[in-house]
Amino acid sequence: KMGRLLTVKTLAGFDFSFQPSLDRDRIMALAELDFVDRHEVLHFLGQPGCGKTHLALALGVEAVKTGRSVYFSTLADIVSSLAKAEREGSLRERLRFLCRPQLLIVDEIGYLPVIPGGGNLFFQLVNARYERGAMILTSNRGFSEWGDVFGGTVVATALLDRLLHHAVVVQIEGASYRLRRHAELMPES
Ligand code: ADP
Ligand code: MG
Repeated sequence: KMGRLLTVKTLAGFDFSFQPSLDRDRIMALAELDFVDRHEVLHFLGQPGCGKTHLALALGVEAVKTGRSVYFSTLADIVSSLAKAEREGSLRERLRFLCRPQLLIVDEIGYLPVIPGGGNLFFQLVNARYERGAMILTSNRGFSEWGDVFGGTVVATALLDRLLHHAVVVQIEGASYRLRRHAELMPES
């Protein structure tokens, strides 16, 4: 049910004082999970290390605690599983499988461009879940750059049409938590 929540990340373990641009009350309100029941899409945007995966996992943990079904994966793994299913003639089944969880978390949009045809496959998944199931997406790239991520502006526009219709966007402006002990290495902000 949990997919692969290898490391447990929690809201209690998130240091909001490190990320002043982030409204703690807003995250706590999201943890009530109404967005899941409304089949909305929650986007976490920000630079590497700013806490996107941590927050997505922590909300996934909250959802599991309340008995909701959750599946966590990276975009690369989802796309390769869809491509494999397509080769094997089982794309319908794979899409149906990925439509079952009430919350689907798709991590790491934008670190790598998707494989050829991957944008189209991901669109089929997004379209199948549209208004039927909630998603959390994390990305280090702005929406205007999704054409580069998904292999073209046509597919990126179609994706964003669905993914921004009933959506909550949380932009994290802060720096990397991983590099917090190396402040002298960070660019001036
Ligand atoms: P991103 O997905 O945005 O690249 P992560 O969520 O993976 O970043 O965060 C990087 C590491 O720093 C993880 O181990 C995460 O648990 C930790 N981390 C990030 N932000 C915070 C924070 N504000 N408080 C506590 N731990 C944090
Ligand atoms: Mg991450």
